[in-house]
Amino acid sequence: MLQFSKYERPATVEEALAIVQKVKGARVIGGGVWLRLQDRRIARAIDLSACGLDLIERVDWETGAPATGDGPTPGDAWGVGAMVTLHQLEVHGGFNASTCGVYESAVRDIVGVQMRNVATVGGSLFGRFGFSDILTALLPLECEVELAGEGRVPLAEFAARKAYERDILTRVLVRDARDLRSGFACARRSATDFSVLNVCAARVGGSWHVAVGARPGRAVLLPAEAVAALSEALPAGAPQAPAATVDGATASLSPQAAAALDAACEAASALPLGSNMRGSARYRRHLAAALTRRVVLEAAGLLAPAPAPAPAARPQAGAAHAAAQVAASPEGVPTPEGGEA
Ligand SMILES: Cc1cc2nc3c(=O)[nH]c(=O)nc-3n(C[C@H](O)[C@H](O)[C@H](O)COP(=O)(O)OP(=O)(O)OC[C@H]3O[C@@H](n4cnc5c(N)ncnc54)[C@H](O)[C@@H]3O)c2cc1C
Repeated sequence: MLQFSKYERPATVEEALAIVQKVKGARVIGGGVWLRLQDRRIARAIDLSACGLDLIERVDWETGAPATGDGPTPGDAWGVGAMVTLHQLEVHGGFNASTCGVYESAVRDIVGVQMRNVATVGGSLFGRFGFSDILTALLPLECEVELAGEGRVPLAEFAARKAYERDILTRVLVRDARDLRSGFACARRSATDFSVLNVCAARVGGSWHVAVGARPGRAVLLPAEAVAALSEALPAGAPQAPAATVDGATASLSPQAAAALDAACEAASALPLGSNMRGSARYRRHLAAALTRRVVLEAAGLLAPAPAPAPAARPQAGAAHAAAQVAASPEGVPTPEGGEA
């Protein structure tokens, strides 16, 4: 059982940071959803819920200050407070419209709405969980985290570092992107389980960025050289109607675009991918290539996105989400355990 020796609820981030930096064993509580699974005693629990970190607002990217202009979307970025819950952001129309719905697609299969109403965006990113769908979805966007002590850090750098002892994540900043197109896909063995693998692709102002997570290590971006050819071959949204199947969409590519996509898929399956109880490294290599193909085609507008399951049907549909696409492939496909179907 999780126990606290002392509990504090500071009124400001400055007070909270002073405690974190002074008291050995002090620990910040976000939603507490992950922390509560632990069997340990925390010397000083710091509840951030009174620090005013629950806002989703338009900000100026350079300064991070709240935007002052007129209109529905002043400024040029979103500032998302660390204590904003996963579901608050999932149903935020403005945020999802300007990020192409990629966050909503990434969180909709995480357990259930009740849980997503408690777990926070800050706790999800600070935890830098290997299985995180949220980290994978935000990595390809122009995104920075704001730390009370260290200041702003690009998300990719934050995700790659070993540890951030004694700091507090206060906000996540996501910059508006010109002509953003994106796609997210994950494979789960059963509804509400962690992803076996997840992939997100985004075309941001003409350049492609692809993140692969649940490897089972933390999400990483494909190296720039692995996606450079995509930026040349698939620079803009497709004018034709999207195909219904991956094979149909692949067949519509020019030879140059097909080669660029093959190279990106190969690079995804060549990432360090390991085995755990959810899948073998071999199965993940297969998923990495298959899901990368799917999300790039979706983001390019060549493949119709998999329909979002209706809420009542989510338990079954979530299980099949993307996994069906992969598992239904013909013979030669590795099973999760690493054998052959
Ligand atoms: C059963 C279960 C299933 C899940 N399935 C998925 C899934 O499929 N996909 C997925 O992406 N996620 C999944 N998650 C993770 C979940 O989405 C959240 O990421 C997780 O609960 C952490 O959020 P929290 O607000 O509860 O953080 P907490 O549990 O409060 O904190 C997590 C860690 O971050 C620290 N922390 C929290 N907030 C801050 C802050 N602002 N600054 C500094 N440190 C901070 C805490 O000290 C702690 O170390 C699952 C979680 C559970 C419990």
